[in-house]
Amino acid sequence: MNSDSQSYDVAIIGAGINGAGIARDAALRGLKVIVLDKNDMCSGTSAVSSRLIHGGLRYLEYGELPLVYESLRERRCLRQIAGHLVQALRISIPIFSGARRGRALIRLGMIAYDILSFGKRLPRHDMLDRNGIKEEVPGLRDEGLLGAARYYDAQVTFAERLVMENLLAAQSAGADIKTYCTVCEIRVLKGCISSLVYSDRQGEQTAISVRSVVNAAGPWVDEVLKAAPHQVDRFVGGTKGSHIVVGQFEGAPKDAFYVEAAADGRPVFIIPWNEQFLIGTTDIRYNDSLDRIRASREEVDYLLNETNRVFPNARLQIADIHFAYAGVRPLPHRDKGPESAITRRHIIKTNRNIAKGLVSIIGGKLTTYRNLAEQTVDKLARILRRKSPTCRTADTLLPGAWGVDRARELLLASKLLSDKGVDRLLSIYGGRASNIIDLANRDATLQKTLNDDGVHLAAEVLFAIREEFATTLTDIVFRRMMIGLDSDQGRSLYTAVAVLAATEINWSADTQETEMQNLVEYADSLRVT
Ligand SMILES: Cc1cc2nc3c(=O)[nH]c(=O)nc-3n(C[C@H](O)[C@H](O)[C@H](O)COP(=O)(O)OP(=O)(O)OC[C@H]3O[C@@H](n4cnc5c(N)ncnc54)[C@H](O)[C@@H]3O)c2cc1C
Repeated sequence: MNSDSQSYDVAIIGAGINGAGIARDAALRGLKVIVLDKNDMCSGTSAVSSRLIHGGLRYLEYGELPLVYESLRERRCLRQIAGHLVQALRISIPIFSGARRGRALIRLGMIAYDILSFGKRLPRHDMLDRNGIKEEVPGLRDEGLLGAARYYDAQVTFAERLVMENLLAAQSAGADIKTYCTVCEIRVLKGCISSLVYSDRQGEQTAISVRSVVNAAGPWVDEVLKAAPHQVDRFVGGTKGSHIVVGQFEGAPKDAFYVEAAADGRPVFIIPWNEQFLIGTTDIRYNDSLDRIRASREEVDYLLNETNRVFPNARLQIADIHFAYAGVRPLPHRDKGPESAITRRHIIKTNRNIAKGLVSIIGGKLTTYRNLAEQTVDKLARILRRKSPTCRTADTLLPGAWGVDRARELLLASKLLSDKGVDRLLSIYGGRASNIIDLANRDATLQKTLNDDGVHLAAEVLFAIREEFATTLTDIVFRRMMIGLDSDQGRSLYTAVAVLAATEINWSADTQETEMQNLVEYADSLRVT
């Protein structure tokens, strides 16, 4: 067993949105932080959500007003600190006769949402009659249509990049980030956290000295706690949610749609996303393996049927699905009651019965991660008896939010990319796209694009490895350059990416081939057949 000479105030287990957000806040407040993930960053739940930064209109039905208010406040905050990643999204709710939620109830919900959004800078809702909505969305089902409500929320196209930017901010404030390191033992001495042990990809174990541990392992929270000396009751009892991704279809709307499923009355989103449509989600109690969760055929059929019902000309079939993904909401464990009624509020649980200094995060949403992080670091400061500086995350821009206009000027002046390529680069890296151009300017071979369409710059591959701790082809394709989420899952670019990565990392021919196989296997696993 190796031992790391460094000693940390806090070790954060899990580099999803919550772990990354806590790392940024803790490091900015002067704590010595290490983040460990058993996989790549953002390879768990945070990559399989509906990608909405939303108040959660639905939570109003369950009287969760504080959660809606908190979410709406955080929505505004994220649009400020990560405006390059989080955009406003107009959402329509069609109203059909005989639906569980009638016009009056939806109107009431809209008014409450507007009141709770007060001062939050997005336009208020409006109500359309049948002709009004048909004029705007001719493809919408005629039968029983009474009208629609329209309101605004926000969307983070690439949640992966939001996680990355939180980690980068943490790193520049002094945090150490280690991916592909599984925490396998949490050690306790005289009732306090003393150290933990992690195992890297080669199986080599390292012990590090830590004063506190934040278990931000999402649905794996209970599994991580098994690495501690005393066992506790189950905290997390997740529900599975799946999405399908399809291309443009006949009668497709320009706005996002939020529809009540005929099958079970649940809300289903049909969201314009990444030049495709993201359709989801399901909500099914889940107690199976947490690794490699896949959308089932029943879930896929449910999502196709509901979309075809609301947009009858779509006639979507399995063959129209580009890919699908699924994950488990890390919700508080409840044995009984409907899945949709389980609270979406987060719980920051102090595990004092195991050890002083151990905290577990249960639940949470992408939307509220920043506030969750602030509350967690306040708690850590008390546990560590540190007088903590004030939290600065609500008004400190994330790294890519700086210099976006300047980056656009640089990109246009460089003439390396098409207009589409410039927009794409800025939507992924924000102002940090300037650093990619700098890299390309230092090496002419990195100035070419990966194919002839002028969209993907060769320098991005090296940037992912040098600046964004990518270590595998799958990291680069699915969670750095984001081409894995294109309609063809970026397949036409795999070889070009592999050649550049192999040279940079010095892979042998065998390793390059294995990396390619792993990438294709991963992409295939998201296909629906
Ligand atoms: C279907 C679905 C739709 C959703 N839609 C939305 C939405 O539209 N908007 C919204 O705000 N929220 C949404 N959510 C909720 C949100 O996505 C999650 O609550 C959030 O992403 C949880 O993040 P996390 O960091 O806690 O967990 P995760 O992202 O799962 O991260 C946990 C990390 O811990 C790591 N880990 C596990 N065990 C170990 C170990 N032993 N050692 C080291 N690392 C370990 C994992 O590899 C993983 O990367 C949705 C969730 C689902 C499932």
